[in-house]
Amino acid sequence: MDVADLAALETGGSLWTWHRGLRDGTAVVFDLDGVLSDAASRQHHLKGPRPDWEAFFAASGDDPLINEVATVLHLLAPELIVVLLTARPARVRTATLGWLDRHQLRWDLLVMRKDGDRRPARHFKQEAVRGVRERGMDVALCFEDDLRNVEMFRSEGIPTLYVHSGYYD
Ligand SMILES: [Mg+2]
Repeated sequence: MDVADLAALETGGSLWTWHRGLRDGTAVVFDLDGVLSDAASRQHHLKGPRPDWEAFFAASGDDPLINEVATVLHLLAPELIVVLLTARPARVRTATLGWLDRHQLRWDLLVMRKDGDRRPARHFKQEAVRGVRERGMDVALCFEDDLRNVEMFRSEGIPTLYVHSGYYD
């Protein structure tokens, strides 16, 4: 990926990275972990009394792709904006960009949370999706594997498809 193609900006509690320039219009939002990225091999870092988030995120660059969701992504009409909205912290941005590049995924905007943000993911994602809408994007559909986030998106009036990762049982 050519770094010149990327534009980063901080907005609220989020770090936004635009790929190939800023756009507005109809958007489809995808989560990463458990939706596009198969994080099963690093879930063990979160088990037990003290979840090791550092190790969990550090291993994210090696995740396999979830092919079914990636296929949906590639079949979307080209004029749709693809927003990747993840609760991953900004410090794994480089690894995340490398992973997206390796799997040749199509995307327009990557929204990550700022380092040190310890709010529940649904609060971060709610603020972020409101920001995406305020920026002029009409969010038509979300893909999400955490039912708490699914509920939140639906409460915002956004149709949301639940993808079963099994991480939150
Ligand atoms: Mg997820």
